[in-house]
Amino acid sequence: MSANNENDEKSEPIAGFQDVNAFTQQALKSVVQATRVSNNLPAAGDDYDYYSSFQGVRDILDIEGKRVLNIIQNVLRYHNVKGNMTSSSEATDLDDKFDVLMDANDHILEKVGSFLDESAGLKKKEENLIIATATPKAKLTSTASWNKKSSGSPSISEYKLLTARNIQRPQVKFRDKIDNENRPFVPRITEKPNALKSLEESLKLPDDVNMLEDPDFVYPHPYKYELSVLKPTDRQLQDTEPLKPRLVEDTPLTFVSTVIELSSVIDKLRKEHIVAVDLEHHSYRSFQGITCLMQISTATDDFLIDTLALRNDLSPLNEIFTHPAVVKVFHGADSDIDWLQRDLGLYVVNMFDTGQAARVLNHSRFSLAHLMEHYCDIITDKQYQLADWRIRPLPAELMKYAREDTHYLTYIYQRMKQELLARGNDQKNLLLSVLQRSTEICAKVYKKQVFKEDSYLELYRKSKKVFNSRQLQALQKLYQWRDKLARQEDESTGYVLPNHMLLQIADILPREQQGIFACCNPIPPLVRQFLPEIHSFIQEAREAPLLKVSLPQEKKPSVYQHPRYDPAHLLNCPHDSSHITDSQDLPTIPDVSMVTKSSMLYGTNNSGLIVRVKAKPLLTAFGDKRDKRAASKGQRMAAALASSFLSPYTMFLPDAGAPSAESEAQSLGSWTLKKHTVKRKRSPTPPKGPLPKKLKPDPTPEKPDLSVREINAQQRQKEHQNEGVVNLRITDDDKPQKKKKKKEKREKQQDAEFAAFDYSQADKNIFLGGDSKKKKHDVFNPYASLKGKGNQKVGRSNQSFARSQKSHSYKQDGKGGKQNSWPKKK
Ligand code: AMP
Ligand code: MN
Ligand code: ZN
Repeated sequence: MSANNENDEKSEPIAGFQDVNAFTQQALKSVVQATRVSNNLPAAGDDYDYYSSFQGVRDILDIEGKRVLNIIQNVLRYHNVKGNMTSSSEATDLDDKFDVLMDANDHILEKVGSFLDESAGLKKKEENLIIATATPKAKLTSTASWNKKSSGSPSISEYKLLTARNIQRPQVKFRDKIDNENRPFVPRITEKPNALKSLEESLKLPDDVNMLEDPDFVYPHPYKYELSVLKPTDRQLQDTEPLKPRLVEDTPLTFVSTVIELSSVIDKLRKEHIVAVDLEHHSYRSFQGITCLMQISTATDDFLIDTLALRNDLSPLNEIFTHPAVVKVFHGADSDIDWLQRDLGLYVVNMFDTGQAARVLNHSRFSLAHLMEHYCDIITDKQYQLADWRIRPLPAELMKYAREDTHYLTYIYQRMKQELLARGNDQKNLLLSVLQRSTEICAKVYKKQVFKEDSYLELYRKSKKVFNSRQLQALQKLYQWRDKLARQEDESTGYVLPNHMLLQIADILPREQQGIFACCNPIPPLVRQFLPEIHSFIQEAREAPLLKVSLPQEKKPSVYQHPRYDPAHLLNCPHDSSHITDSQDLPTIPDVSMVTKSSMLYGTNNSGLIVRVKAKPLLTAFGDKRDKRAASKGQRMAAALASSFLSPYTMFLPDAGAPSAESEAQSLGSWTLKKHTVKRKRSPTPPKGPLPKKLKPDPTPEKPDLSVREINAQQRQKEHQNEGVVNLRITDDDKPQKKKKKKEKREKQQDAEFAAFDYSQADKNIFLGGDSKKKKHDVFNPYASLKGKGNQKVGRSNQSFARSQKSHSYKQDGKGGKQNSWPKKK
């Protein structure tokens, strides 16, 4: 059904028919009539032979026969069934044609069945929700058991996949047509409140019209100019006493699903200068994903906005969202910004991302759950994060979960602001840094997933498989088929055919159709439906000549790409940096001996160790040059004192991180680090005030404090020793000649080039075990990698989630099996 207008759709679901019933009645009548007429045709054998001896009859049979075949062919094409019905060859291929027809029938009936199922979902109620619970077995969680509390809270160690059997596809009701074509995303914004530059001017396109079809082309950001000149308000920069959050029970909750309700919410929001916003999203049964819910909280209210029902009506929110004097608090907004643009045409000007603040404040973890616990003493349960947010009416559990995502956020914002001001310098550098990072996120422009002829190679490389030319051909074909079908049917590629199954089929190249099923468990519905087509790719590939494989050079992905929610990253575990090795821009740790000595947690493979260096120093984010005099004598003393202490978890980091912004400010006088060779054995965050108890003095400092010059000298020596082994950026002035002359100049330059090590990239979660403040959710959780803590790469599809669960439990069973097979005493 492609009716664009909702009203038309209501009065006439199928053109020319009052309702579906009328249509099916008419269709049945036609079918009966056609059958009767075809039965009256002269039967094969004598009758047919006799009649066809007349030229006139032969001609008519011929013409009508061709016409019928053409109609059938069109129907097949419409349903994507391969096979040629119109080829005018001998009777020998009659069987083939019949086979094709049977396939087509199966295919069509399958489709009808699944549509019926789906429409039946309309009537399904909440009681049909399936709650799939996955409980990790406690005794098998050996990895972190030494520091585990005897019994974790069941509510936290359990993961619930809340879903329902037949959820109606929300896309069916969307008024806008979803554009999954492989071409640029066109901004949906039609009005621009709070504009400093008009919408037309902001969206002005280059003259080169061809670019608009280039999938890599990106339309301008409508609020680019406003974001570039945005200045925080005075109130925003003031140190104010945070207002304690209201109890959830005492806070009114409003569910908004009509335009009228929305406008009254906007009226309320106009009075606020801080609002917290979050989104819930569904990505499994849609190609680009669907924003399902928006949570907005103020100090007094919680709102849940049904973004499925109001998908085309939310533009008035831009008045609040782009108001430069209203702070929009998000937590980890990278994806939210994309989703707002893509589905709702919303933009954000003046955001404070508590996820970024958590990084600047050096929290041990950056998750919202952690911040809620830290600032509000609320222990939450992220068990519904992966729920199917398309379910309507929204179950009470999901409503409760959703509102809590924003309920505490305005308070957390105020607390974090206070800390940023307290720990920052006179220029409020830390607060401004968070605001700038947040503004950078707001300035992102949504981009669709691009398909290129060689896109499959990325999957191939990540799989680490070695394919011959036939397997590669099959992989390419399957990948292309999957992309096309996913766009056409508006399904995720993971729903059409998950990566691991795709690779398996290309690897095995099954001879029989059944063999394709054998590569898939469970068999994806669309694979079942399109089996003949898939099988034909495989057959073609099997019959292709074996050639020598020569693949184009790999393109290095950008480290700055946000890996979250990218299904392609499912194959990347957080520590797998193999795809960014050898990059020119990414200095690796040159001192290999340091690494292996300091920690075995990283294994012995050093190639995976990458120090990611910020492009700009944190402190100069707002053009404020580092002022060495800023470090007072007292601060220097404090820094010297702090440097003799070692945090129990940072001391195991391979490079121990660069100084945090504030510690850097404090210890500037005593030492400075060389840009890409950060390796320290001191605490990165000498805390202000009394030192926490858990910091204990380093009993055997491996290296004495060295001056910059000494460090540099040692460094250079090692660089030369390691030439060819580790990949370092060697600049011109690294030439051995004229060393002395240029030494001083270089050091000055390095000073200027100094960039703080980005903590956000270091996964300290592995050290959580040592934290004495052990909390329930620190208990080892085999699904932890799916929970999207910090910068862990996470999958997005429910199916892949289920899959990983499977593989986890498989591994665990393996371990358990070993334990069980231990010989028992009798
Ligand atoms: P949150 O900001 O935590 O409320 O998450 C927003 C949306 O992101 C959720 O509705 C999910 O669709 C998606 N999401 C969050 N975490 C994960 C994860 N670990 N894996 C897959 N999707 C996630
Ligand atoms: Mn969120
Ligand atoms: Zn959320």
